[in-house]
Amino acid sequence: MTKWVLSFGPEGAEGGAEMRNLLGGKGANLAEMCNLGLPVPPGFTITTEVCTYYYANGNSYPAELKAQVETALGELSTRLGKKFGDAADPLLVSVRSGARASMPGMMDTVLNLGLNDDTVAGLAKLSGNDRFAWDSYRRFITMYSDVVLEVGHEHFEELLDTAKEEKGVDTDADLEAADFKELVTRYKKLVQSKTGKPFPQDPEAQLWGAIGAVFASWMNQRAITYRRLNGIPEAWGTAVNVQAMVFGNMGDTSATGVAFTRNPSTGENALYGEFLINAQGEDVVAGIRTPQPLTEAARKGNGKPSMETAMPEAFAAFVAVTKRLEAHYRDMQDIEFTVERGKLFMLQTRSGKRTAKAALKMAVDMANEGLITKPEAINRVDPLSLDQLLHPTIDPSAPRKAIATGLPASPGAAAGEAVFTADDAERVANEGRAVILIRVETSPEDIHGMHAAEGILTARGGMTSHAAVVARGMGRPCVSGAGGIKIDMNAEKLTSGGETISRGDWLTIDGSTGQVFKGRVAMVEPELSGDFATLMDWADASRALKVRANAETPLDARTARGFGAEGIGLCRTEHMFFDASRILAVRQMICAETLEGRNAALAKLLPVQRADFVELFTIMKGLPVTIRLLDPPLHEFLPKSDEEIAEVAAAAGVTVQRLTARVHELHEFNPMLGHRGCRLGVTFPEIYEMQARAIFEAAAEVFKATGDTVTPEVMIPLVAMKAELDLLKGKIEGVHKAVEAETGTRIAYLLGTMIELPRAALRAAEIAESAEFFSFGTNDLTQTTYGISRDDSARFITEYQRLGVLEGDPFVSLDQSGVGELVEIATTRGRKTRPDIKLGICGEHGGDPASIRFCAETGLDYVSCSPYRVPIARLAAAQAALAPGKDRREDR
Ligand code: ADP
Ligand code: MG
Ligand code: MG
Repeated sequence: MTKWVLSFGPEGAEGGAEMRNLLGGKGANLAEMCNLGLPVPPGFTITTEVCTYYYANGNSYPAELKAQVETALGELSTRLGKKFGDAADPLLVSVRSGARASMPGMMDTVLNLGLNDDTVAGLAKLSGNDRFAWDSYRRFITMYSDVVLEVGHEHFEELLDTAKEEKGVDTDADLEAADFKELVTRYKKLVQSKTGKPFPQDPEAQLWGAIGAVFASWMNQRAITYRRLNGIPEAWGTAVNVQAMVFGNMGDTSATGVAFTRNPSTGENALYGEFLINAQGEDVVAGIRTPQPLTEAARKGNGKPSMETAMPEAFAAFVAVTKRLEAHYRDMQDIEFTVERGKLFMLQTRSGKRTAKAALKMAVDMANEGLITKPEAINRVDPLSLDQLLHPTIDPSAPRKAIATGLPASPGAAAGEAVFTADDAERVANEGRAVILIRVETSPEDIHGMHAAEGILTARGGMTSHAAVVARGMGRPCVSGAGGIKIDMNAEKLTSGGETISRGDWLTIDGSTGQVFKGRVAMVEPELSGDFATLMDWADASRALKVRANAETPLDARTARGFGAEGIGLCRTEHMFFDASRILAVRQMICAETLEGRNAALAKLLPVQRADFVELFTIMKGLPVTIRLLDPPLHEFLPKSDEEIAEVAAAAGVTVQRLTARVHELHEFNPMLGHRGCRLGVTFPEIYEMQARAIFEAAAEVFKATGDTVTPEVMIPLVAMKAELDLLKGKIEGVHKAVEAETGTRIAYLLGTMIELPRAALRAAEIAESAEFFSFGTNDLTQTTYGISRDDSARFITEYQRLGVLEGDPFVSLDQSGVGELVEIATTRGRKTRPDIKLGICGEHGGDPASIRFCAETGLDYVSCSPYRVPIARLAAAQAALAPGKDRREDR
C-alpha cells in the first residue's frame, strides 16, 4: 500500500533529507533535523504524490489518505498527550506547504489550527495567559479565512485597525485580552457575512480545509508565475506539513526569529538574522514591528538588545544548532526558530538563497575551510547569477544627492523611471524603458513587476522581507525599508529629504549601501579580482571546452579579454559596415550596377576594414580570431529615406531616379532566405576578396609590428553545398598568395565555414574536405530547422510555451533533440573526414548554460558568446565537465 503520510518527531522520523522529491524541501529537512536529534515540534508530512494524484484524478484524494492522516494524527496526540478539540488541553497545529524547490511566499501558512470557542478557553487556562490565547485565536481566524475561506486578510486588518483606533493605541502590543476577545466576535461575524456560514469549529474539518487549500495553492496564479520564472515543473507538486504548534508569543521569555548561518548578502561568515520577542510566525518578516538583530556584533550598539543579551541561554543553544546544521548540510542554512518560555524549537532549515556575491564568497571560503571540495565549490555557484557581479555600481566620484537611506537588501546599482505598481512596471519595461518599482512593501502579487524592473525600492520591511528575498533571488538591486520616504500611492509620488519624485522621474538606487538618489547617477564597471578570480581559476582548471567571445569592436574585444575569453569566435564584419562614417561607401558598393562602380566603393572600404582588423589582432595578442565574411542580406544595407538615397546617388555619381530603381530591384521578399551569406560572395566575389585582403594585410602588419603570430580564421557563412565553399576558397587562396608575395610575409590562416543550414550539417563529411573548421551558427540553424523566423516568433512562442507545446524557447536554449541532432551529425561526419577539424558554436546559445553543457558533452572544442557571458560560459563549462547531466534547479 502506498504510504501517503510520513511522521516526524524528536525520537526520529520516517523520512530524511534525501527524500525531498517526496516530502518537499521543508518536510524532508524537518525529518532530517529530527533524525539529528534537534528540538523539532513533532508532526507529519502528506507527500507530493498526493498533490500529483489530486490533479490527475479530478481534484480528489487517494482512498487511503483519510485513514493514514487519522493514524498520524492519533500518534501525534499520543506523543504530546493532547487531543484535537479537547477543551482542557487542545492539540494545535500549523499547516504549511512545501515543494521540492523552495517557492517563498507561494502559500501562507495557517498557524494555531485547532482553536475554536471551547479550546481557546482551555489554552487560556493552561497557559495562564488570556491575552495570548485570544491573540492566537484571532490570528488563526485571520490566517484560516484568508488562505482557506478566501476572505482576504485585509478585511481583518481593517477591523484590527478600528479596534486600535477605538482604544487610541498604535500597535497590537497595546491591545489586551478583552480587546482580542471582542475582535474574535467581530471576525466571526465578518466570516458569517462573507461566506454565509459560521467560522468552522470542528478541528478535523479545519484541518481538511487547510490541506485542501495547500493543494489548491499549487495551481494559483502566483505559484504558476513563480514556476514559470524559475523553470520548476508543474508535475513536482507540493507536500503538506502538519506540525504541532510552539508559541513565540507567550510573553517576554518567548520569541520567534529567522537566521542565516552566514550573511546571505555579502557571504561573510557570521551568524545573521533577526528576531522579535513575544511574536508569532511571520511577524518578523511582515514588517509589523521592526525586528532586532540576533547578535551584539550586528546590533552595533543601536536599538533594543540583541537575542544574545536578551535571552543568552536560548541564544547559546541556538548558535550550537546553527553550527551543527551548517556542518551537516555543508552549506549555508536559512533557519526559522521559536523560543517558547525559554526553550528553543527549530521550525525550518534549508540551503539559503544568497546573492551571487555571497554565493561566490561562501563557495571559495567553504572550500578553503575544507567544508567542501573545489569541484563542489564550482558547482555551488549558478553560472547565470554571475551576471549580478558584472553589474555596475555607483561611481564613487559621481555627483549625487541621497534623498533617503534604507536597507541594502540586494546588491548592485540601478537607475530608472519611477513606477508605483507592478503592472505599470511591466508595461513601461515592455516599451524598452528602465524602471524602478517603488512599493510600500511588496507581496507575491508584485512578482511580475519586480521581474520587469531594474531595481526595487520599498518603504517598509527588513532584510528578510518579501522584497529583499525575491530581489536577491532574481538578481535585482533592492533597497528595502527606506523608512524616511513617504509614498502617496494615489498621486503616484514619493517624497523624501525635501524632494519629490513623481511617476516617470528618474531615480537611482544602490542595493549595496541602501541609498536612494534623485536622478540618474553615473556608474562604474565591477572589479573582477578576489573571490571571483579564484573561482574562475578553479573553473578554468576543470574544463576542456574553450570559451571565446563574439566581438567586433575594440571595446568588446577588450571586455572579452578582461573576462577571460580565449579568442574571438565570431567577428561579424557587417557590424563594422553599419558605422555612420562608413555606411555611405557600403551603400554605394551595394547599389553599384557595374564592377567598376563596386570596385570604386570597395577601394574606399579596404583601408578602414584593414585598420579594424589591425586593432582587433593587436588586442587579441596571438589568440585565435574568427572573422566571418559579409553575411546579412543586401536588403539590410539599402538606403531607405529620400535623404539617404540622395546621398548615395551623389557619392556614386548617378541620378536619384536611377538609384531608386536599383533599390527596388534589390528588394527581397524573404531576405532571411534570400541574397545573403556566401551567396553574396559567389555573385559579387570582389566583396569577399576585399575582405580577405584586409584580413591578410592586417595579419602581416601586426606580425611585423609586434611579432605576435596572428592566425586568422576566415569563415564563410551560410554554406549549403561544398561547391559554394570551393569556389570561394579558390578566390581567397588567390588573395592570400598575392598578399604574401606583396608583403614578403608568411601568413598562416585557417579557412572554414559556418554550419547553419540543415543541408550543410547533413553533408558535413564532404564539406570537411574543404573546411578546416566548422562553427555552428545555431541561431540560423534553429530558424532553418524549425522553419521559424526568430524575429517573428515572439507572437506565438509564448503561447506555445503556455500550452506546453514547447518547453522552452529554442532561440534561448538549444533544442538538443532536433537542432542538437544536426550538430551531432555534423560533428561525427566532419571528424570522420578530418579528425583534427576545429568545432565551435557561435550562436546566442553559446552563453546559455544548458546549451554549453550540450556542447561539452557533444565534444565541441569551444563555445563563443557575448563578452558579458564569457565568465558564465567558463563556469558552466567547468560544471559540465565535473558533473555531467546534473540539474541545478533543485539545489535550493
Ligand atoms: P514559509 O514557507 O513561507 O517560510 P512556513 O511554513 O515556514 O512558511 O511558516 C510561516 C511561519 O510560521 C514561519 O515563521 C514559521 O516559523 C511559523 N511556523 C510554522 N509552523 C510553526 C509551528 N508549528 N509552531 C510555531 N510556528 C510555526
Ligand atoms: Mg518558512
Ligand atoms: Mg547565421
